Amino acid sequence: MFDIAIIGGGPAGATLARMVATRMGEKCKILLIDRRRLTQEVDVGSFRKCCGGLVAPDAQKMLARMGLALPKSVLVGPQIFAVRTIDLSVGLERYYQRFYINIDREKFDRWLVSQIPDNAEIMDDCLFKSYEQSGNGYRLKLLYKGKIIERTVRIIIGADGAFSQVRKQAFGEKKWPKRYISIQKWYKSQKTSPYFGAIFDPEITDFYSWIIPKEDLLILGAALEMGENVHQKFELLKLKLENFGYQFGEETKKEGAFILRPLNLGQINTGKAGILLIGEAAGWISPSSAEGLSYAFRSAMVLADSINQGFTGLDSRYKRRCRKLFANVLLKNVKSPAMYGQRLRQLVLRSGIESLDVWE
Ligand SMILES: Cc1cc2nc3c(=O)[nH]c(=O)nc-3n(C[C@H](O)[C@H](O)[C@H](O)COP(=O)(O)OP(=O)(O)OC[C@H]3O[C@@H](n4cnc5c(N)ncnc54)[C@H](O)[C@@H]3O)c2cc1C
Repeated sequence: MFDIAIIGGGPAGATLARMVATRMGEKCKILLIDRRRLTQEVDVGSFRKCCGGLVAPDAQKMLARMGLALPKSVLVGPQIFAVRTIDLSVGLERYYQRFYINIDREKFDRWLVSQIPDNAEIMDDCLFKSYEQSGNGYRLKLLYKGKIIERTVRIIIGADGAFSQVRKQAFGEKKWPKRYISIQKWYKSQKTSPYFGAIFDPEITDFYSWIIPKEDLLILGAALEMGENVHQKFELLKLKLENFGYQFGEETKKEGAFILRPLNLGQINTGKAGILLIGEAAGWISPSSAEGLSYAFRSAMVLADSINQGFTGLDSRYKRRCRKLFANVLLKNVKSPAMYGQRLRQLVLRSGIESLDVWE
């Protein structure tokens, strides 16, 4: 029997596995499950995480706190020092200084998994299907190499992202953060753009869209409200940006994923009764920028600290220790009107406060 089974080996799950395995050694039997082939060095056509692949300052700070430095193998060009903020509805734009690390997200996730000590058992290419109560723990049903297999565990950790099956099966569909469909298309580009583009336009979405350069490609992405017309909205966005001066070459890839936006603290669920949630599965993600890596790391770190003090009272200890994270999400929601309230945003953009003069 395992002490903990972590479902999902993304940034949250891999961090938790690494920290618990390092600190507790053989005292805690860990099983990490992911449907992706994260232990293989090269991607061999399994699922891929759809992501912009920017490590924002908050996530950089978390890497520093965890004593991790990025290997150059996970970096991609160009490295970015400014955000180009565009309000498409009135054609306003401003540049602001921000430092991002541009990464290959698949390589980044593989590198995080490679940091997990050997005393944690990793089963990748393995799909979590369901669980049932068994004695004082749970029996997991997993799809592995075409067969359903079972594992018994004491505690289940859902680190399975925005479409968490663990959260859905344990806590139902109610009180989830607002769910968006994000679409990303990759285009060949003639000219490398040195900026992260953040695009606001209520005709496209009440959240935002983005442009991220990756070597000689440009990612155009948007978090779109659920509905039938998401593809038309995406094409309209592209057209509007072309009219604004952007040039998109041949499309080389398209991908999609859900992305969550916690609009109030009741939508964040840290779990209970031996089933705990971290990362985006819990709803930990910035409601203003959709930056999720720092929240994945922080929630994993808080849970690892809580586990280190034993399993008794773990659910409430973890929730209590998340208070700074709750406060952080609250603050981001309080600040949101400056970005998402049209009038206030346009006022800020027109004022030019804190913006950079850019010569191109
Ligand atoms: C389009 C897009 C762009 C984004 N861009 C950025 C960005 O640039 N910077 C940033 O900080 N954040 C970004 N985010 C948010 C960020 O990607 C997430 O918040 C972050 O990855 C959450 O980490 P996580 O470990 O909680 O979940 P995930 O990274 O989603 O990892 C979940 C893991 O669980 C596995 N899994 C899921 N279901 C199962 C199952 N049933 N069985 C087994 N395994 C399963 C998945 O394979 C995956 O490895 C973006 C999100 C999207 C959708």
